[in-house]
Amino acid sequence: MLRSPPQLVGAAAFLAAVGPVRAGDALSSARERMVREQIASRGIGNPEVLRVLRATPRHQFVPPDEQALAYDDCALPIGYGATISQPYIVALMTELLLPDPCQRVLEIGTGSGYQAAVLAQLTSHVYTIEIVPELAEGARRTLAALGYTNVTVRQGDGYRGWPEQAPFDRIMVTAAPPEIPQALTEQLRPGGRLVAPVGPGWEQELIVLEKRADGAIRRTAVAPVIFVPMRPGSR
Ligand code: SAH
Repeated sequence: MLRSPPQLVGAAAFLAAVGPVRAGDALSSARERMVREQIASRGIGNPEVLRVLRATPRHQFVPPDEQALAYDDCALPIGYGATISQPYIVALMTELLLPDPCQRVLEIGTGSGYQAAVLAQLTSHVYTIEIVPELAEGARRTLAALGYTNVTVRQGDGYRGWPEQAPFDRIMVTAAPPEIPQALTEQLRPGGRLVAPVGPGWEQELIVLEKRADGAIRRTAVAPVIFVPMRPGSR
């Protein structure tokens, strides 16, 4: 019988105990259930978003002792005061972004890299910025190990955006700034769309900002949300 070494926990121990084929099946059925019960049932209908959430191994993006909870209906701590968002919120923000295979996307708040992996499967390239060096390095490693080649991770301050790669067709912010940073609105292409949790402290609303072809801005509040506040960087 295959014995799992004591340091293996969660999904890793599960994999060691039941073997890769059956474990793969069990985790894909956990993802299938997650999509059915937490996401489709709450009104997310974009078939591409649902397909990608079924395909992305969320358990690989969380620390070993959280892996058994990876497909539960909650956010999970990933260290350094950061969290990987609840699966439904990842799906909702992804659907609101209206992703398309031709787009270049900027994400602020790489965290685990999970949201970047989801966007990478729906768009042409994802540029993602994380302020905590250890998280940026961890996400870079996870994304490379899983073969996501169209994601570039940078350690830095998201308030500045990524001027060298601008303009972006889409911008997703996954930490909450008190107001949408000016640099991000400027780095959005006309016709582009930005999705962000916005508000002081923990009182936030999910905002969709559209920049029309003539540069005019339309802002729509979608729902109250709770995200890790965006840290003031070197503004
Ligand atoms: N999208 C992530 C979850 C993000 S949690 C995922 O899929 O796992 C919010 C992240 O934003 C945290 O990792 C936090 O360190 C980062 N963050 C906070 N302030 C920031 C800033 N000013 N610039 C860039 N990243 C920031």
